[in-house]
Order: sequence, then structure tokens, then C-alpha cells
Amino acid sequence: MLPASQAESLILDLVQPLHLQRDSETVHLMAASGRILATEVVGTLDFPHWDNSAMDGYAVRYADVQGCSAEQPAVLDIVEEIPAGYQPQKTVQPGQAARILTGSMMPSGADTVVIQEETTRDGDRVSILSPPRSNAFVRHQAEFYRAGTPLLSAGLELAAPDIAVLAAAQVPTVTVYRRPRVALLSTGSELVGPDQPLHPGQIVDSNQYALAALVASAGAEPVCLGIVPDQPEPLKAAIARAIATADMVLSSGGVSVGDYDYVDRILAELGATLHIRAVAVKPGKPLTVATFSRQDPGTTAEEPSQILYFGLPGNPVSALVSFWRFVQPALRKLSGLSSSWSPVVVKGRSHHELRSDGKRETYFWGQLYLADGEYEFHRAGGSLSSGNLINLAQTNGLAILPVGHTRVAAGEEVDIMQVNSAKSITQKQIKV
Ligand code: AMP
Ligand code: MG
Repeated sequence: MLPASQAESLILDLVQPLHLQRDSETVHLMAASGRILATEVVGTLDFPHWDNSAMDGYAVRYADVQGCSAEQPAVLDIVEEIPAGYQPQKTVQPGQAARILTGSMMPSGADTVVIQEETTRDGDRVSILSPPRSNAFVRHQAEFYRAGTPLLSAGLELAAPDIAVLAAAQVPTVTVYRRPRVALLSTGSELVGPDQPLHPGQIVDSNQYALAALVASAGAEPVCLGIVPDQPEPLKAAIARAIATADMVLSSGGVSVGDYDYVDRILAELGATLHIRAVAVKPGKPLTVATFSRQDPGTTAEEPSQILYFGLPGNPVSALVSFWRFVQPALRKLSGLSSSWSPVVVKGRSHHELRSDGKRETYFWGQLYLADGEYEFHRAGGSLSSGNLINLAQTNGLAILPVGHTRVAAGEEVDIMQVNSAKSITQKQIKV
């Protein structure tokens, strides 16, 4: 059985990210949130666009004011008023100043701003009462960013701050990767949908719903192919359809060693290369990872598209944990993100004792809080059996016990993987 960290790096090595030319599209900034930039953006505007004032005051020539004091103020003629959005019309000559407001363009001739508080005004004349530093309160053109240099790099996920930068740089559209398509199928003759009558012995297909939500929140497009019974022919047809249409396939169930676990055999029959059959994790031990080559329009015979197939365990807790631990990093790399594929792991105190047999990397699901600025993990109440789906609700963290570790005492520090970012970490309500 493969150790978890080796499985993760093997999986990441198998991922062929979306293709810069074939898999990119242009979107308007209003639709760019959460999309991944496919090409570097180079701006054509300097920041600031021109020299401007950082304060309300007077634009002056430093040479005119450098020796002034409250006793011997420099008295200057005000030749112009420069509000925001106005282009100065006059050059400030020796002995002159311009009234200027925050953000306004500096007039030519002036090199320094004297803040209003250091002046007194009398009609069209201003007295400067103390000498500023040379160039004080002037934001110089291109001081923050120079046109023609990289503004945002390819492979980053666009969020509000990036979109603000692009808008300010007058970049109204961006080239982003298309959303990866992830086919989902639930295998199991016992499965019925949540809206169908449940007969004795049947089980509701929760995986399709949970995985679709996870795929969508990872920025990808779920393609739900429904329930497939444990029969070789329908299963083969469904898997063939999935690999023909998607960039990644997630099936759940049928990868264990039971009599009806056909998935691995069918993958081999369909020409897959099987890379992983099981990983030393708990829950989630049976995990099949395979790849298929597909000849898409625009691909060469030497460089076909590579489809990654995950056969997740059917057990709902195991399926989710496997997604967070192994599928999500692969999906992040596939989608064009240039870094930060792996889950975020923080250190925090476990509120409860945690026990494992130490044989496999073990995950405990529960809630991650902030308490007095430190992370605190509360394992879910009730049984942490992988068959107990019900106490998974509101999970936002998985405490991890590495192989060889059998116990974390209550109050002891433990690694916690942040999961389900939709369920954000909250301040723990301390009861008094
Ligand atoms: P399997 O991996 O196919 O042996 O399934 C393991 C357990 O998970 C069995 O109890 C299945 O009934 C259950 N299971 C399989 N697929 C699903 C699913 N899509 N949703 C909920 N439970 C499932
Ligand atoms: Mg099954």
C-alpha cells in the first residue's frame, strides 16, 4: 500500500494541466472571479499614471521654500487651482504655487507639495510656514508599477483584489482557462437517488451530490452521469462515455475486493494504465488511480490528451476524504493553477483525545475553530466509523495522525487539514 504523501506526488505527476491554446477562453472582468489566468497580463499604463499629490495643499518649487520658517515664511502667488480630474494649464514659475487636492495632477514646474496645515492663505497668496522635504507628498509617475512590465502572472486564481488591479489597468477582458469537466458516476446496484422510493436493502446515492458540490466549489464543471449497477457491461459503457467527454472522471464504489467490484478490471479492458490500487490512509484505503490517453482535435499522436480517472471508495466518508486529500490537488493542477495545489495544513490543539492503530495515515473529521487566536479542533460527535455519514455535517477540518502515531491527548497539538472552504473557520464562542 502506498503512503499518502507518495500517492499525492504520484497523482500530481500524472496530471496534464489544461492546454494554453486549446483550453483557454476570453472573459469580461465582470465574469472573471474565480477563473484562472491563462496568460501573463502586461499593463500599458504606469501607476500612478502621472505625478500627483498625496495630500491637500500647495504645489511649489522646493527651491522657493527650502529656507522658510514661521518667522520668515515664503510667500507665493497662487496661479491655479487643481481639483481632481483637472489637467493643470499653467507652469509654476519661481515665486508661484498652485492650490492642489489629493490625487490631483502635479503642475509642471512644481516638484513638492506643502500640506495645507503648514500654510496660511490670504487671497491669491499663500505663506509657507515650515520647509518640507524636497519632493514631499508627490507620488511620482510609475512609482508603483511601470507599463510594459508583468502585472499579473499566468496560473493565478482571480479574486476581487486582482480584478481591481485589472480594472484600474484598463484591462477589460482576460484570457482564462476553461473550467475542467469532471464526470461523476456512482457504481452500486443497491443505489437509488434521493428522490426515489427506498426499498429494503437499498442505499441512497449521496456521493454524486457531495462530489458534484466539491467539484463545483473547486471551480470545475461537474458532469453527472448518474447511478450505474454493478454489472460489467453497463459499467463499461458508462466509463467509456465518461472518459470520452471529460477531463477527469470520478467514480465511487466498486474498487474494493468484493465479488461485484469490477471497476479496476473494466479500466484495464478499456486500455487504462493503472497507477494506484490502494493508499495507506483511513478512511479511504481502496483508491484506484488510472490514466487514459485520448486523441482530441488539435492534439498530436505524440501528445494526446491524458484523462485522469479516480475510482473512489463507495463509502461516503471515504469518498469525501479521498477527494479532499487526493482529487482536489489534482483538480487544482489540472485547472491551470500554477501553485498551491496541496491542501492547507495548520497546527492546532485537539479538544479531544484521538486514537488510531498507527498503521495508516488516519483522518478525524470535525470542526476547526479559532480560540484566542489559535486553532482548535473538535472531532465530530458520535462514531468516527467511516460508515457514519451523518456526523460529517459542518466538517471543515480533518485532524491527521501520521503512520506510527497512535494517540493525541486532549489539548495536544495536531496537524489539521482545512477542507470545505465554503464552511469557513469561525471564532469559537467561549461559554462564560
Ligand atoms: P463499495 O466501495 O462499492 O464496496 O461501497 C462501500 C459502501 O459504500 C457500501 O455500503 C455502499 O453501499 C456504500 N456506497 C457506495 N456507493 C455509494 C454512494 N454513491 N452513495 C452512498 N453510499 C454509497
Ligand atoms: Mg459497491
